[in-house]
Amino acid sequence: CEAQGGPPAVWRRSSRPWLSLGKCSFRIFFFFLEARMVKETGFYDMLGVKPSATPDELKKAYRKLALKYHPDKNPTEGEKFKQISQAYEVLSDAQKREVYDRGGEKAIKEGGTGGGGGFSSPMDIFDMFFGGGRMHRERKGKNLVHQLIVSLDELYNGATRKLIIQKNVICDRCQGRGGRRGAVETCPSCRGSGMQVRLRQIGPGLVQQISSICGGCQGQGQRISHRDRCKACGARKIVRQKKMLEVHIDKGMKDGQKIVFHGEGDQEPGLEPGDIIIVLDQKAHPVFTRQGENLFMTMDLQLVEALCGFQRPIQTMDNRTLLITSHPGDLIRPGERKCVLNEGMPLYRRPFDKGCLIILFSVVFPPENFVPLGKLKELEHYLPAREEPKEVEDMDDDLYFYADLEDCEPPCTRRYFEELDEEDYHPGGGIQCQTS
Ligand SMILES: [Zn+2]
Ligand SMILES: [Zn+2]
Repeated sequence: CEAQGGPPAVWRRSSRPWLSLGKCSFRIFFFFLEARMVKETGFYDMLGVKPSATPDELKKAYRKLALKYHPDKNPTEGEKFKQISQAYEVLSDAQKREVYDRGGEKAIKEGGTGGGGGFSSPMDIFDMFFGGGRMHRERKGKNLVHQLIVSLDELYNGATRKLIIQKNVICDRCQGRGGRRGAVETCPSCRGSGMQVRLRQIGPGLVQQISSICGGCQGQGQRISHRDRCKACGARKIVRQKKMLEVHIDKGMKDGQKIVFHGEGDQEPGLEPGDIIIVLDQKAHPVFTRQGENLFMTMDLQLVEALCGFQRPIQTMDNRTLLITSHPGDLIRPGERKCVLNEGMPLYRRPFDKGCLIILFSVVFPPENFVPLGKLKELEHYLPAREEPKEVEDMDDDLYFYADLEDCEPPCTRRYFEELDEEDYHPGGGIQCQTS
């Protein structure tokens, strides 16, 4: 029990010490349960989530980090991008996650999943996640993924956002040939293969074959002489172009949802153009939190409101005022949830249907001595009768100790440290009186 911070001094003076003991042993048990769940947390740390993270939390964490560290945006963070992908690859697969939780990274590398160890390429993971698993990458140009920060209001009301992006398009001037018509000639150095093969003698009768990308054409297999090169693209066949996209955010769309502009990605000669994929990233709202189709908020009530009813206005995201009403005679308990039907988020593609608005109430108690002492009896008169403890009257005076209640912080903490050996004392160690 001492190892867990010890029961507060007030409990220890109580005549029923087993009460605090019982609570403490429960806490130790719980601690063990948590500690045994995972062997190591490296992959979870990499994604910045707890080992208890749900698949949705994992997805969200991967999405944010993968977009941040993608080589397109952050060319120097390739290693980090790889680590994020590996962590996500393992944790997003229930079977691999279990292997990792039990045996750590070592177990994954040893291939305890049956499917063999090793990881997929970070780009494949990224494309699967954002591109919907299209695996014909060699036939298509690159997809462009952009994150668009949106407010909950925009997801509630719908919105149109203009986004200017930069992408590669096939050069107009030369129509993607790179130069004047007929100017393209097969590279004489590699005869069109794009590769150069050199033979090197490494011993008597031993020849090593070395292939490398052709320096004459940079592996293109073709060449355009200097004077025939297209002035617009410098024979690169593509140019960078700004393009404005109108992104329609429909009512009820959610954080992480993708809006795909097919064929609007980078163009490359001979390839089908890739897609532009816009990923919505919802900012936190000051009042409402979204929970699926429901909205969630908290409300602090004064004790009188909780007991005697109240009316409170709430501004909705489409600028209506809801008058939240609890009628006299109704009662709200601390920690109680109530809901207002049809005031949650509009459903995606069914915007006239809405979820609920869930309100979690807390009750603010009045300050000490809010009633003059003489009037307390009067107040008590209206409250439910108290439960009289039976033992007190039967017990002898010297069989019990009077135990006054003190504030837990800071006297409780101080007493706890006084009992420790000096070397165990860490000022600011953050141990507070635990009353749970
Ligand atoms: Zn060549
Ligand atoms: Zn050109």
